[in-house]
Amino acid sequence: MSVAVIGAGPSGIYSAEHLAMEYKVAVDVYDALPVPFGLVRYGVAPDHFSIRSVRDKLAQTFENPLVRFRGNVTIGQDLSVEELQEHYDAVIYTYGASLDRELGIPGEGHPMSIAATAFVRWYTGHPEATDFGDLISRASDVAVIGLGNVAVDVTRILVKPVSELEQTDIPLHVLDALSRSAVRRVHVVGRRGPQHATFTTKELKELGEIPGVDVIVDSKDLPTDFAQVTDSKIVARNLDVMAQWVKREAHSDKSIHFHFYSAPKSMDLERGVLIVDTMTLDDHDRLVATGEVREIPSQMVVRSIGYRGEGLPGLPFDHNTNVIPSTDSTIIGLENSYVAGWIKRGPSGIIGTNKKDAVSCVNTLVASRGESFTTSPNAIDQLLADRNIEVIDFAGWKRIDAREKELGNSRGKERTTIHDRGELIRIGQGL
Ligand SMILES: Cc1cc2nc3c(=O)[nH]c(=O)nc-3n(C[C@H](O)[C@H](O)[C@H](O)COP(=O)(O)OP(=O)(O)OC[C@H]3O[C@@H](n4cnc5c(N)ncnc54)[C@H](O)[C@@H]3O)c2cc1C
Repeated sequence: MSVAVIGAGPSGIYSAEHLAMEYKVAVDVYDALPVPFGLVRYGVAPDHFSIRSVRDKLAQTFENPLVRFRGNVTIGQDLSVEELQEHYDAVIYTYGASLDRELGIPGEGHPMSIAATAFVRWYTGHPEATDFGDLISRASDVAVIGLGNVAVDVTRILVKPVSELEQTDIPLHVLDALSRSAVRRVHVVGRRGPQHATFTTKELKELGEIPGVDVIVDSKDLPTDFAQVTDSKIVARNLDVMAQWVKREAHSDKSIHFHFYSAPKSMDLERGVLIVDTMTLDDHDRLVATGEVREIPSQMVVRSIGYRGEGLPGLPFDHNTNVIPSTDSTIIGLENSYVAGWIKRGPSGIIGTNKKDAVSCVNTLVASRGESFTTSPNAIDQLLADRNIEVIDFAGWKRIDAREKELGNSRGKERTTIHDRGELIRIGQGL
């Protein structure tokens, strides 16, 4: 049996690992990018060294001779869903959720209003990233809209001293832009209260540990009795962290301001403000507007209200939930096709969540397919060659890996990310 996996992020690599290790099945893992690892490379914050190092573990899967990395191949463009169906016994779709969500408020289309997805791509060196160096050199106040861990990552990268980021693999042009940043205040804005935020405590706490940065929380936003508003340990710990911040005195020239109960209403970035409706909880704990409208200074806005998946030509797709419809990882309406990861469940859960999901997907696939040997993927290599697609294999990734380490080592650190797609392909091809 031979299986194609579409997307070399955690869910794709965990699927390949289980297929090869547990069932001795040959797997081709395709990715649109010339490099593997998905959001572990282009999502997880560069200063979270231990989480980023998960990629070393993921890379080991490609050392198995049954598993091939087929980078720089976009499904839906270079190869169709029908062609995959024809050449493989089964296909697992694990291509993630890479689009952003919009607020749908006036002023959102201003060039100084951007999505967190795009900002994260920039600082992690994604080949298709927009350069935001100019924007951050012109904004002293930035509003980050959203109360989750991605909002925390973006906030931290915006205010952290560059000296603290120098040891990371952030591309050199991004480090240079961050060193010229005008950002002094980041306003974290959310329509709900601190007890509703989805931060994890470790990430939240880190904000209070950045040298030269104050964190400002309005004591009025914190519930008086934590136990009454939550039975979640994480939320209780988050509230404790924020209660400590309330007691601190502000003395630094950079700061992070939390604006809870502030629902974005419109943006007037020419005037440098985000306009919000002040919210409160009614007697039934429902969020309601108080009628008070406030302005939060911001020349730039980063909206961090979630990622969403997109469909591929030839694949069923649920446009309401933005996932591929499935039952027990089996795609509804397409034969021999399976799904795992964010494109199956939506954009939630940590890296490890995808392992469990991938294992269960592969078990379903094997149980329903049996041990058939019907097709050979070799013909597809010829198809790609005929189309002049420059496929990057695992040896190619190893060349890129070695060059990134060389570049980093020359500056006294472990690695520097290369962001230029053409350069990645040239190195991958050994040119
Ligand atoms: C900003 C951010 C920070 C995060 N930080 C953490 C953290 O600190 N700790 C943690 O545990 N989790 C973190 N996560 C969550 C974690 O990254 C995800 O759970 C995980 O990456 C989802 O895995 P996936 O394989 O489903 O998708 P992805 O990682 O998105 O992988 C999908 C892959 O599919 C490829 N692809 C897309 N379209 C195509 C196509 N048409 N053809 C071929 N290939 C395609 C993409 O290039 C990508 O490589 C973070 C997520 C984000 C967004």
